Amino acid sequence: MDDRIERIHSAVIARNPAEPEFHQAVGEVLESLEPVLAARPEYLDEAILERIVEPERQLIFRVPWEDDEGNIHVNRGFRVEFNSALGPYKGGLRFHPSVNLGIIKFLGFEQIFKNALTGQGIGGGKGGSDFDPHGKSDREVMRFCQSFMTELSRHIGPDTDVPAGDIGVGGREIGYLFGQYKRLRNRFDAGVLTGKALGWGGSLGRTEATGYGTVMFAKAMLATQGESLEGKTVLVSGSGNVAIYAVQRAQAEGARVVSISDSSGSVYDPDGIDFDLLKQVKEVQRGRVADYAAARPGAQLRTGEKVWTIEGADIALPCATQNEIDEDAAKELANNGVKLVAEGANMPSTPEAINVYREAGILYAPGKAANAGGVATSALEMQQNSARQQWSFDTTVGKLSEIMASIHDTCLAAADEFGHPGDYVLGANAAGFQKTADAMIQQGLV
Ligand code: GLU
Repeated sequence: MDDRIERIHSAVIARNPAEPEFHQAVGEVLESLEPVLAARPEYLDEAILERIVEPERQLIFRVPWEDDEGNIHVNRGFRVEFNSALGPYKGGLRFHPSVNLGIIKFLGFEQIFKNALTGQGIGGGKGGSDFDPHGKSDREVMRFCQSFMTELSRHIGPDTDVPAGDIGVGGREIGYLFGQYKRLRNRFDAGVLTGKALGWGGSLGRTEATGYGTVMFAKAMLATQGESLEGKTVLVSGSGNVAIYAVQRAQAEGARVVSISDSSGSVYDPDGIDFDLLKQVKEVQRGRVADYAAARPGAQLRTGEKVWTIEGADIALPCATQNEIDEDAAKELANNGVKLVAEGANMPSTPEAINVYREAGILYAPGKAANAGGVATSALEMQQNSARQQWSFDTTVGKLSEIMASIHDTCLAAADEFGHPGDYVLGANAAGFQKTADAMIQQGLV
């Protein structure tokens, strides 16, 4: 890294102690920016780097709630409003016991560049809580969401900050959050949250969008090599919303997806994952991958094992969580002949894993490009809310497909411009950064 960039990264580490994921996310972006800063010195003159790594606003709040037995619990709530140069803060809420300020900041930082790449006029933000929805009753989840929104409602609005889902926050949670917001504000602000149900302002295609978008992106990458997904064997990790629809779309493109996973282990399904069964187990029963394996003849449950050691795959789509592929896992992928990695999750590859991909010549797309379809479709949901319209599934997915193709081409064009053809990491960071940085300069020192 260039000296000034190195100093900024060190300052971020010193100023934000005990936030390793945030340091990592910042480091990965800064590392890409050397050629951009050489070409555009005004970014340094205007202190864009120093400004972009500092959130515009960080909210931390107490979330007290009562369980079904009358016991009182206290969780911590977060919303980091990172950057509003391109539009209202936009990004999901994550409910998971691992959530802390550093996790939300890494996600919010990534979201700035991802949202810029969508071309949709949305700034970057993220929020969540260390609340664990697993094993909680619907009523407990509702009471938690109501308490969380009681504070959050003061800070959000359709033109201010628009949360959505992430890990642990799906349609059920968005419903409870919206209900409480509406009651507190006495406004049917449909555009204050995205990922809503279809009957009251949700968009067709939003549920599928992240997984579909990741597969569309992988397809565009393959097309640059004169290849397609037809006949390819694919590893998917995770079994949440992103994974489920990555499985469906990859199989619709003629691939065979042979794995899914959760925190207890993975499933190898040599015949190809049964999408309908997966959807039933996960979305209807709220079950685990072990329940899928038990119901699926020929599937093997691999307790405590990740999917990356499964042999014979051409493509890996990590759709679970941050840092799920470390250096060793990346070497397994490379040794087993995987040729392409496209990230459905946020920052699932460690920096060491990314180096392994580079050395092995694996075609690699970072999450901020490959998983941008979810938030892009959230922006389409906001458009429909503003117009009081509901578009057809095909209209929305058609627009998603155009957006993913455009993100892909934007990344490659930026990679070419800055002398690293085919480098999707540099391309995504350079293009997302420039768009945001130009807006920040035009809007003055705020
Ligand atoms: N949580 C998703 C992401 O990581 C979606 C955010 C949104 O729709 O606002 O991009």
